[in-house]
Amino acid sequence: AVQNNSDTTLVTATAPIANESHGGRAKCLQRLVRLDLPVPRTVALSFDAVHRLGDAQLPNVDAVVAEFPEDAMLCVRPSSEDPDWGGPGAVLNIGINDARLKELSKSLGEEAAAGLYTRFVQSYAVNVARLDPDMFDDVNGDGRAALAQSLQAYEQETEEAFPQDRTTQLSAVLRSMARAWNGTSARLLRQAKGAPADAGLGLVVQEMAFGVGSGQCGSGVLQLVNSDTGAPQITGRYLSQSQGRDALEGDAAALYLTKDPRGESLEELAPEAFAELTEHAALMRRKLREEMQVEFVIEDGRLHILDGVRVARSSRAAVRISVALADDKIITREEALMRVQPRTLTELLHRQVDPRTKRDVIGRGIAASPGAATGKIVFTATEAQASAARGEACILIRRETSPEDIRGMHAAAAVLTERGGITSHAAVIGRGIGLPCVVGASNMRFNLRKGQITASDGRTFSTGDEITVDGSNGQVLAGAAQMREAALDDTFNRLMTWAEEVADIKIRANADTPADAQTARNFNAHGIGLCRTEHMFFDPGRLTVMREMIFAETGEDRRAVLERLLPMQRDDFTQLFRIMQGQPVCIRLFDPPLHEFLPGDKAGQRELAEALNLPLSDVIRRVEGLSEYNPMLGMRGVRLGVTVPEIYEMQARAIFEATIAASRDGEPVVPEVMIPLVSARREVELIKTSVDAIAAAVRNETGVQFTYRLGVMVETPRAALRAGEIAPHCSFLSFGTNDLTQMTYGLSRDDAGRFMSNYVQQGVFPEDPFHVLDTDGVGELLQLGAERGRKARPGITLSICGEHGGNPESIAFCRAVGFDYVSCSPFRVPVARLAAAQLAI
Ligand code: PEP
Ligand code: MG
Repeated sequence: AVQNNSDTTLVTATAPIANESHGGRAKCLQRLVRLDLPVPRTVALSFDAVHRLGDAQLPNVDAVVAEFPEDAMLCVRPSSEDPDWGGPGAVLNIGINDARLKELSKSLGEEAAAGLYTRFVQSYAVNVARLDPDMFDDVNGDGRAALAQSLQAYEQETEEAFPQDRTTQLSAVLRSMARAWNGTSARLLRQAKGAPADAGLGLVVQEMAFGVGSGQCGSGVLQLVNSDTGAPQITGRYLSQSQGRDALEGDAAALYLTKDPRGESLEELAPEAFAELTEHAALMRRKLREEMQVEFVIEDGRLHILDGVRVARSSRAAVRISVALADDKIITREEALMRVQPRTLTELLHRQVDPRTKRDVIGRGIAASPGAATGKIVFTATEAQASAARGEACILIRRETSPEDIRGMHAAAAVLTERGGITSHAAVIGRGIGLPCVVGASNMRFNLRKGQITASDGRTFSTGDEITVDGSNGQVLAGAAQMREAALDDTFNRLMTWAEEVADIKIRANADTPADAQTARNFNAHGIGLCRTEHMFFDPGRLTVMREMIFAETGEDRRAVLERLLPMQRDDFTQLFRIMQGQPVCIRLFDPPLHEFLPGDKAGQRELAEALNLPLSDVIRRVEGLSEYNPMLGMRGVRLGVTVPEIYEMQARAIFEATIAASRDGEPVVPEVMIPLVSARREVELIKTSVDAIAAAVRNETGVQFTYRLGVMVETPRAALRAGEIAPHCSFLSFGTNDLTQMTYGLSRDDAGRFMSNYVQQGVFPEDPFHVLDTDGVGELLQLGAERGRKARPGITLSICGEHGGNPESIAFCRAVGFDYVSCSPFRVPVARLAAAQLAI
């Protein structure tokens, strides 16, 4: 007996079998045996044994064969540690020979018996003797004729008689499977799926259950859920008089499993076997604590369970299956949370290209904002708005987007840009408003003047042509693709509630508009972690006032124009506070360089001159005067706040007046005011003095008391290093890792997209540092800043609000450093929350 030999183990309830030594299939079969299911007799070969087989050192195949009845036919199937890593195909009917054929012809019928033999000869020829599968293309005729032709072809090619001895056959099959596993292409294929270089292969030798013969015979698979939706539903396939994967290949002859008006079903043909089968499937679900697909054979009405594999599933099915298993108390809620990949949630949050659709890819870029949409091509924001007004979906294509495009982006179904990276304007806005977006599509040619884009294969698409943008994987497709709607259903919400209960780091959202805030609120964000106030000025009505403000000659004039912006900002903030119902709202004071609000082209400048009633030359002079060599390192953020104080004064007043308005009829509001791009303590002191004065003035004027929290955005390396002297002046530090990454690497966030993939390919960066936080470099600054800030001001609130806030790996780092919250785009809140929950479990 082989029971005590660790190389080859008869699978019993107690045999020592583990995934790591025998592979997942062997382990699963043992579980089925333990459940007393009708599993044919099985022997498992360990990784070690199979490894030695590959080196032609045969373990004792006699001992394996001895475990089976003398006349039993056998099959061999692969058993790798992870089923995804693949393995050689199964070989069935080992042990058949001329003598067995005679006996089987009596019991099964000639045709069926010959079919079994033919299948074995052909698969032996291809897998063991390595003959060309084409040589059997001409085999035809009835069972006996096909067998004779197959045997003849084999003997002609190999110049040997077909082996008749069962042990010889089995040894050869085992060795060929071991060798196939070690072949270069198999190795590369599984390494691409994440298998280690030395991943082992186990093999499972099982007594055949034929699936052919008299009475109801056949093979198939059955599962209790729909793989696509995760809803309970008996699905699968069954084919009478079949073996192996026959039922899964070609669909003409397959039967329905359950009663169906369209045709015959297994349930009717073999009611007892069917009932037993569904019972076994339910037992497997309960005991294996997973939705399983059952592989089965029916032999003259009798059921055999050959195997069970984890049901393949879409992202939405994964959520539904996990939640249902937890609801049925089969797994814990924590386990349910651990079983869903945070990233796959994005697929539920947005419309997707149906995974079953064939894709006609015409371009590729960076997947900047998930979800997919189809529409007609437009090249300007104005056309996008016109298109939306006609009720026509459109795709806005730009070289890159700027604040002027915001309205067009809102009107478009998706955005495609030639330039830009993961933190470019289009990407940030796209994620913020849940708009599918592909940026940096550098393998397409963009001719904006002609209104054309050209694919790498030369196809040209013009204004009005229909394309699809898939922001989930960065592809651009020709025409309209079949779509699948978002699935924010009850199961999703329940999973999120469970995540919320265990997560120990808070999740806020970056939200600039009431619509964003509402999305954040719907996802139960713990507040707004970053409101980029400048996005509020992109509205055309406001943009003109903004430009007037920029053109003001004196502080006095500027204040006068800002007076007109004040009520608009106050309204914005009041709405945000109301929507967030007392949750913290962190408002960042104005950040971008002013030139971003001025038109770059002549036509725009002429229009502006007209609007402001100024000579064109004045406008041009002003635009030139504000232009900078390195605008991201120039007059922006707190530097503007210090040198043009009127803007921050207006914003502070708007925030405080909104605080009073929102608190009057809702939850009390304690606004958070955040200063961007700080690099020196003195900057904070100056702004604090000014904001404090505005607060005092508003209290005086209104007679209403309120408090506020002042914070600093740490997004320059110096601010991180000097956090110790900055912290005493503020209540919170929020790390803006977009700029901090840009400045730590000296790498432009708007231009890095051009060479990022090259850099990642060559292994210079392990990943795009704008996407996944560079924990070594930027992370060290975060750690230093957090430590120094906390030491100077114990209890200071720490957080991150760069794009990394929604990235699971980066969240792990922030949690480890002891941050209080992460803030990310509203649509990433669920992903961040699940990631946070998994870290806490
Ligand atoms: C940052 O720099 O990380 C940040 C959040 O601000 P912005 O992206 O607006 O520069
Ligand atoms: Mg920034």
